[in-house]
Amino acid sequence: YDDRDGKIWMDGKLVEWREAKVHILTHALHYASSVFEGERCYNGKIFKSVEHSERLRRSGELLDMPLPYTVEEIEAAKKATLEANGLTDAYVRALAWRGAGEDMGVASSRNPIRVAVAVWSWGNYYGDAKFKGARLDISKWKRPSPETIPSAAKASGLYMICTMSKHAAEAKGCSDAMMFDYRGYVAEATGANIFFVKDGEVHTPLPDAILNGITRQTVIGMLRDKGIKVHERYIEASELEGFEQCWLTGTAAEVTPVGQIGDYSFEVGALTREIATDYEKLVRA
Ligand code: PMP
Repeated sequence: YDDRDGKIWMDGKLVEWREAKVHILTHALHYASSVFEGERCYNGKIFKSVEHSERLRRSGELLDMPLPYTVEEIEAAKKATLEANGLTDAYVRALAWRGAGEDMGVASSRNPIRVAVAVWSWGNYYGDAKFKGARLDISKWKRPSPETIPSAAKASGLYMICTMSKHAAEAKGCSDAMMFDYRGYVAEATGANIFFVKDGEVHTPLPDAILNGITRQTVIGMLRDKGIKVHERYIEASELEGFEQCWLTGTAAEVTPVGQIGDYSFEVGALTREIATDYEKLVRA
């Protein structure tokens, strides 16, 4: 991803893709002081763009890293980066991090907060699992308590266990891993929220120890508009056996059907397909 043509927006200006570099003593590299966004641009328009910019700023605040740019400035940066790369359908990655500077210790409030935006083409996050139903491993790592980490932030440090979980899943031939939380309730996948269907009603975990995804909120709204009951609640491991359908939601994942979690199987059913199709129409509308 580093050696290619293109432009990346860094700290207020567009730079050559290959020159978008940071110093090795960047605070974020040592202490995970960084937050990010994953967004998708469809037909020249980023879906829920302002919501993503607002979440980036909120994530920064949660990590005691107030961003030096307003929502409007971040919006303009994303637009400029898409234009500079000639892309109308792309994944958009905004990143804010504490840079190198005066301090090299854990405390580094004098080091600058830096921001970058990169965009690139990214197809189906789960490849053909998007159509067949993804196979998920069950991670040995648990989503931590919001008293342990700032669960509501899309912070890079929270992804350490996600990367380890996904590597373990891929080694078993799975597309991703489902994680339980610190209490043993169903939480989410490593980069997507999870939904289940039973008897025509939908069940999804309460977002108290997981990211309350923008796609999650969109899909809950779509379901309720159709008159389908959505239960946001704690989901026990023992309930997995009784669910009929399952899907994941996320900016990158969009709506991806799940065919299997560990030993439990789910059908790629009518409601799953309907929601996946409706979401596709909505983001391109
Ligand atoms: N949970 C995690 C851990 C994620 O990384 C993501 C992707 N940002 C999501 C859920 C889904 O969030 P969104 O719908 O806002 O992309």
